[in-house]
Amino acid sequence: MTKSIVDPFVILPEEAAPLGVQHCERCELSNQRDRVIWGEGNPEAPILMILDNPGAREDRQGNSFLCGTRETLQCGMREAGLDTDSVYVTYLLKCRPIRSYNKPEAREACSPNLQIQLQEKKPLVLLGFGNVVAGALFPRNENVSVKELRGRWHEYQGIPIGFTYHPLAVRRRPNLMKFFVHDLIALKERWRESN
Ligand code: SF4
Repeated sequence: MTKSIVDPFVILPEEAAPLGVQHCERCELSNQRDRVIWGEGNPEAPILMILDNPGAREDRQGNSFLCGTRETLQCGMREAGLDTDSVYVTYLLKCRPIRSYNKPEAREACSPNLQIQLQEKKPLVLLGFGNVVAGALFPRNENVSVKELRGRWHEYQGIPIGFTYHPLAVRRRPNLMKFFVHDLIALKERWRESN
């Protein structure tokens, strides 16, 4: 069950990948992953967040833990007053890379999975994290960056989309947290306007 911001750091429930994707071998990450990570949070949430790829989710003993990315994201959400029940978090790539790989090929191969999610979930608002996600969603816009995109609303597949820094960038440079929180507050307000 999803918890609210009262408990700031929670491991959100993972949504199982559709049967047809659980054994996907469309790119070389199929040789590196433990499993396909479809997404986590509320599968029917109005806000869909897009990260680049999953990180570690279990320790060596197999116990679930929150990686730095997800912990920082929840920290920002708490500051912004954004409840975890309102969001679903997914990835450009549904498999965790542990070695180098052909990134353009993997992104292209996995892109249909995000399209399926958008069609099925019909979120009201999207939020992309980091330059990798920005570049993958707007490939014609050469060298597109979060710095350039944030602070305004754009459109992806007919859905409003905002961008902010990758949580790991915020973790490395704490001075970005205020911008990160600002963007999450803007997201919350955009969602409320859509209701
Ligand atoms: S990253 Fe995507 S395309 Fe590649 S194996 Fe995993 S699910 Fe399939």
